[in-house]
Amino acid sequence: MRANNRVLAIGAHPDDIEFMCSGTLKLLRDKGYRIYMGIVAKGDCGSAEYSLEETTRIRRVEAEEAAKMLDAELNILGESDLRIFMDDRTKMKVTEFIRKVDPHIVFTHPRNDYMIDHEVTSMLVRHGCFAAPIPNYITFDPDPAKPIEKIPYLYYFAPFDGMDIYGNTVPQSIYVNVSDLIDFKSKILACHKSQRNWLLKQHGMDMYIENMKRMCRLFGQQSGFEYAEAFVQHRGNAYPADNILKGILKDYVLEK
Ligand SMILES: [Zn+2]
Repeated sequence: MRANNRVLAIGAHPDDIEFMCSGTLKLLRDKGYRIYMGIVAKGDCGSAEYSLEETTRIRRVEAEEAAKMLDAELNILGESDLRIFMDDRTKMKVTEFIRKVDPHIVFTHPRNDYMIDHEVTSMLVRHGCFAAPIPNYITFDPDPAKPIEKIPYLYYFAPFDGMDIYGNTVPQSIYVNVSDLIDFKSKILACHKSQRNWLLKQHGMDMYIENMKRMCRLFGQQSGFEYAEAFVQHRGNAYPADNILKGILKDYVLEK
C-alpha cells in the first residue's frame, strides 16, 4: 500500500458521486483506500415541496447516510444549487479543500455535461488539482493546509447518459466493471430518498435507480461488462498520465 491512500470524489450536488462513480469508490475502498467525498453545493434546489433551508437539511442527512456506506468522510462546501461559479472565491475554496484532503486520486464531473453546475465543478476541481501544490497560490483560509506535494491523478466521470448537450455520445476510455456492485449502487443511491421520491411521483416509476442502471448498462455495452462506470483521465501537461486505476483494480478495468 502506498503511503498516500486517499481518494477524493467531488460532485456538484448530493447524489452525483453515487450515480457516477460509487461502484469504483467501493472497489477502491475494498483495496484499503480511504474515501473522501466533497459536494460543492447544498442540493437546496432539489425539492418542489420544501424550503431552501429544509431541503438543505434533508439532503445533508441523506448524503451522510450514503457516505457511511463507503466509510467516507463527507464535506459539503456550502455553495447553492444553480449558483456554482468559476470565481476567485470558489476556486480558492475548492483548492483549499483539495489541500486539506491531500488526495492521491481525484474524481469529478466531465467538462461537458447536461447542467452547468456540473461543468463549473469540473473546472473548479481541475483548477484545484493544478493549484494545490503551488505554494504562492494563497487561499486566505483562516487555517490553511500546506500545499500538496504534487498534482493528483484526475479522472472525469462520464456525462449523464454518456452524451453531450447535443445528444452525441461522448467517447469514454476507461471502464470499471461494477457488475457485482449494482445492488450496492442501488442501495447507496436509495439513501437519497427525497430525490428518489420526487422522480417516483413525477414518473410513477422508480426512475432514479433505473436511470443509474441504464447508464451502467450502456457503459457495460461499450466495454463488454454487464454493468460499468466510465471515465476519461486528465492527461494534459503536469498531471500524472499513467492509468493508476488499472494498476490498482487490474481486471476490473478496461482501457480502450
Ligand atoms: Zn448534479
